[in-house]
Amino acid sequence: MSDCLFCKIIAGEIPSTKVYEDDLVLAFRDIAPQAPTHVLVVPKAHIADCDAVTAENSSLVAHIFQVIPAIAKAEGLTNGYRVVSNCGPDAGQTVQHLHFHILGGRPLTLEMA
Ligand code: 5GP
Ligand code: ZN
Repeated sequence: MSDCLFCKIIAGEIPSTKVYEDDLVLAFRDIAPQAPTHVLVVPKAHIADCDAVTAENSSLVAHIFQVIPAIAKAEGLTNGYRVVSNCGPDAGQTVQHLHFHILGGRPLTLEMA
């Protein structure tokens, strides 16, 4: 998707601070961190949001949830962390490329995005 911000980050057209990468996913630091650790994990293939997850592409989501614990461990989140995916306007989704926020490094309130 040529007009997608995260596709541009994946392509290296927009710089990011990478924390993990493999053939299928990229993880990088959120530009506006909401917690001491705030990492975004995205599939390299463009999937718009949770609504666009299908039987055909859900293995990518499973893979993301396989790498999340390794990222959390590498980030030193030994006391827990939160995984969030916003879908649609009511959730406040601002980038239309499926992404999972990893938040941690302090106790999180229920209101935390
Ligand atoms: P959403 O609100 O869609 O769930 O999350 C989008 C996230 O992307 C936000 O937390 C926002 O701070 C982050 N973000 C927006 N633009 C950029 C950018 O250019 N680089 C990085 N690293 N993060 C971004
Ligand atoms: Zn995209």
